[in-house]
Amino acid sequence: MSFTTITEDIHYYDSAVNIGYVKKGSTGLLIDAGIDRSAAKKVMKEIEEKNWPLTHLFITHAHADHYGGAAFVRNKYKVETWAPPLEAAIMEHPVIEPLYLHGGNDPLPEMRNKFLEGPPVTIDMLREEGEVRIGDIHANVFILPGHSYRQAGLVIDGILFAADSYFGVDYLHKHKIPYITDAHLQLETLNRLLDMEVSGAVPGHGEFENNFRDTVKENIKYHQEAMDWVEGFIKEEEEVSHETLVAAMCEAYDVSVTKMPAWMLYRTAVTAYINGLLRNEKISGYLKDYRWTFSIL
Ligand SMILES: [Zn+2]
Repeated sequence: MSFTTITEDIHYYDSAVNIGYVKKGSTGLLIDAGIDRSAAKKVMKEIEEKNWPLTHLFITHAHADHYGGAAFVRNKYKVETWAPPLEAAIMEHPVIEPLYLHGGNDPLPEMRNKFLEGPPVTIDMLREEGEVRIGDIHANVFILPGHSYRQAGLVIDGILFAADSYFGVDYLHKHKIPYITDAHLQLETLNRLLDMEVSGAVPGHGEFENNFRDTVKENIKYHQEAMDWVEGFIKEEEEVSHETLVAAMCEAYDVSVTKMPAWMLYRTAVTAYINGLLRNEKISGYLKDYRWTFSIL
């Protein structure tokens, strides 16, 4: 793995999760930090070999594969860390992700793995949507919910660092039920991406593309079809509990899940379509026999 160059100043380290790098004058900005110290180290080694500056780290959202290496980078290289509010709170108290995935109960030990909980990192600057100067770099921050509550994308010199607001096509299909938290918000975010005046985009997982809008359209189609599947299933069953629906969708999409942490991610991903259908007033949700239950409106 090594850096792929987009423009003279803009590069990204192409790996399981992409890490962006932008330099202007004496400012060097890393965008996301990989899942752990060893992933971050590989990137830092290249930056050092190239003699590039490193002064800032912007973390797009509080998923461990994006911030797990951040504490190492901040401590060793004394960079200033930036993140959107709320996501920053989770990065500073990472047990919150296993806690919310576990439905608010104290997370069991198996939930506290490096895929769900990275080392805590102090965030120096909170940034909401809008124009910002990060050292010598002029950037636009966009809040892109749907995959994570306050996820941020960054536009610099017409290039969008999109975080996980959309996935590369291979990644989208590989996960079968991709992780999102609210399908209605996710579709709004995807449509917003189509309207952005940028000349190319790098997703968190996938490749840089100038014509990224085709990939975004593929994401829209995928989520729309998944939401239609959920609606169709509820229609066919007439009345279905949350538990049955989660199991039925995992089975229909041929998801391979044997462990609780992975199942909890899929439970959230399936519930994202239920959220979407509830927000779009396609289904009703109520309690029946102590179970969260749905039927078509
Ligand atoms: Zn993510």
